[in-house]
Amino acid sequence: MHVFLRSLRYLTPYKGMATGAFVSMLVVTLATLYVPQIYGNLVDSIDADDWNGILIACGSLLVVAIVRGFFNYFSEYGSAVASQGMAYDLRRELFTKLQSLSFSYYDTHKIGQLMTRTTSDVGAIVKFYGQGILQLISAVLTFIGCVVLMLMIDPRLVVAGLATVPLIMLTLVLVFRRMGPLYWRIQQSIDVLNNILQENIVGVRVIKSFTAEPQELKRYSDQNEVVYQRNLKVPYLFSLGFPTALLLTNLATLLVLWFGGNLVISDKSTFSLGDLVTFMSYLAFLIQPIFQFGSLSQGWARANASGGRIFQVLDAKIDIADKPGAQKLPEKVPGRITFENVHFQYAGDDSDILSDVSFDIQPGQTVALLGITGSGKSTIVNLIPRFYDPSQGRVLIDGVDVRDIQVESLRSRICTVLQGMHLTSGTIRHNIRYGRSNATDEEVEQAARIAQAYDFIMEQPDGFDTVLGERGTGLSGGQRERVAIARAIVVDPAILILDDSTSALDVETERKLQEALEPLLADRTTVIVAQRISTVRDADLILLVDKERIVAQGTHEELRHNSPLYNEIIESQLEDDKNEKRPANVG
Ligand code: ATP
Ligand code: MG
Repeated sequence: MHVFLRSLRYLTPYKGMATGAFVSMLVVTLATLYVPQIYGNLVDSIDADDWNGILIACGSLLVVAIVRGFFNYFSEYGSAVASQGMAYDLRRELFTKLQSLSFSYYDTHKIGQLMTRTTSDVGAIVKFYGQGILQLISAVLTFIGCVVLMLMIDPRLVVAGLATVPLIMLTLVLVFRRMGPLYWRIQQSIDVLNNILQENIVGVRVIKSFTAEPQELKRYSDQNEVVYQRNLKVPYLFSLGFPTALLLTNLATLLVLWFGGNLVISDKSTFSLGDLVTFMSYLAFLIQPIFQFGSLSQGWARANASGGRIFQVLDAKIDIADKPGAQKLPEKVPGRITFENVHFQYAGDDSDILSDVSFDIQPGQTVALLGITGSGKSTIVNLIPRFYDPSQGRVLIDGVDVRDIQVESLRSRICTVLQGMHLTSGTIRHNIRYGRSNATDEEVEQAARIAQAYDFIMEQPDGFDTVLGERGTGLSGGQRERVAIARAIVVDPAILILDDSTSALDVETERKLQEALEPLLADRTTVIVAQRISTVRDADLILLVDKERIVAQGTHEELRHNSPLYNEIIESQLEDDKNEKRPANVG
C-alpha cells in the first residue's frame, strides 16, 4: 500500500491530465452502463411491432457509440501524457540518485541490477499507472453499477446471477496472492540476466582472449532458463484459476436464464423479454470486470514489485553528502593535506585496509606514495577527495576536515587521475575538456603538449577531433593515460593526484612527461602514486606504504639512509634494469 501511494504521488504534477482522463473514463463507463437499457427497449419494441421504438433504440445506440469513442480517446490520451510524464520524472530522479551515490554503493551493487530498475521497472509502473489504474476504477464502477441496475430490474434474479461470484472471486484471489512474490522473483532474475549481459559486453576482450565464450554462454543460458521458467509460472497460475472462474460464470448465466425464462413465461407484463435481455447484458458486463480484476491485479502486483525496487534505489543512503553548514573552499586554496590517525575499512570487510595512517603534506609539495601492489596506496588517495570516508581519524585540507567541506567544492579543487581511469566516448578534444567545458582550444592543446600527447594526437586521422569509442577505445593504454593526464591539467586544480598514471609509459616518455610537468607542479600540491623509484626520487617527500601503514617517510636521500625496505625496493628495481640492460635511473 505504501508503495502504491508513493507511486501515485508521481502523478501529482500531471493531475490536470490525469483528472481529464479520469472524468472521460467516467463518461465512457456511464455510457456503457446505458447500453443494456437500449437493448431491452429494442427487444420490447420488436416484440410489440413498434417501429418508432426500434428507430429510437438504434439511434440511441449510435449516439452512445459516438460518445464512447470520443471520450475513450480523451481518456487514453490524458493517461498517456500523465504516465509518460511520470516515467520521465522517475527516470530522471533515478539517474540523479545514481549519480549521487558514492563509490561504496557501487562496490556493493551490480550495474545490471541498476539498469533493470531504470528501464523495465519504470516500464512496469508506467503501464499500470497509465492504463491499469483507470481500467481498475472503471471495472469497480461497472461492477457496482451493474449490480445496482440489476437489483432495480429484479432482486431475485440478482441472487441467481451472483450466486457464484464469491467463488469466482475466491479463485482469483487465490491465484493473485501468489502473483506478487512471483513478479518480484521475475524482476530479480532479470537483474541477474542483465548483469551477466553487461559483464560480458564490457569484458568481451577478456572473454575472447581466454576463449571463455562457451562458459559465458552457459552462464547466460542458465540464467535465461531461470527467467523463462519463472515467466512461465504466470500463465500456469492463470491456467489454474481461469477455467474454474469461467465455468462458474457459465453456471451463473445458466441459472439466470432458467429463472428469468420462467418469469417471462409466467407473466410477460411484469417481466418482459426486454427485461431479461437487459438483465443478461448487465450480467455479461458484470462478469467482465471480475475477470479484469484478474489481469489488473497482475499489473498492480507487477507495478508494486517494480515500485519497491525503484524506491530501494531512491532511498539508498548517500553516505558521502554535505553536512549542514559545510563550508565552501575558496577558489584558490594553499593545498595542505593532513592525515590524522586514519583507519579505513571497505564496506563489508572486517579488517583495516589502512591503520593509523598519519602524514602532513605542505602546500605546493610534490609527494610520492610508494609501496608494493595492494599495500593501500589508491585507498589513501581516494580519501582525499572524499570518495570514501575514513572509519576513524581525520583527513584535512588546509586544516579543515574534508567532511566539513561541501563535496562539490572539495572535488573541484582536487583533480584525481584515477588508476585505470576511463575516457568517455566522443572526440579527444571533448575528453580533454571534460573537467572544464569552457577551456579554449589553445588550453586543450597546451595540456596535450605537457602530457606528451600532442604528437600522437596529431597523428590520428582527425587530430583532436578523432572520435574515441567507449572508454577510449581506439587509443593504446599509454596514450589513454596521457589523454587522462591532459584532462587533469586542463582543470588546473590546486591539488593534483596521479594514481599510477604513468604505469603504461616507457621510461623515456615518462621522463619527458616529468620534465614538462615540473613547472606546472611547482605551485600546486601533487600526490603521485608510483611503482618505479625513478618516478619518485625527485619528490619533496616520499611516503613508503606497507601493510596498511606508512612505514617510513622522507626524501630519497633520507630513506636511502634509514629505510631497509626502500633500499630493498631500489635493489630489486636495479636488478630488473640490469636484466633489461636499461640505464639505471637511480642515484
Ligand atoms: P596497486 O599498486 O596494485 O594499485 P594499491 O596500493 O593501490 O595497489 P589498494 O587499491 O589501495 O592498493 O588496495 C588495498 C587493499 O584494499 C587491497 O588488499 C585490496 O584488495 C583492497 N581493496 C581495494 N579496493 C577495494 C574495494 N573497493 N572493496 C574492498 N576491498 C578493496
Ligand atoms: Mg592502486
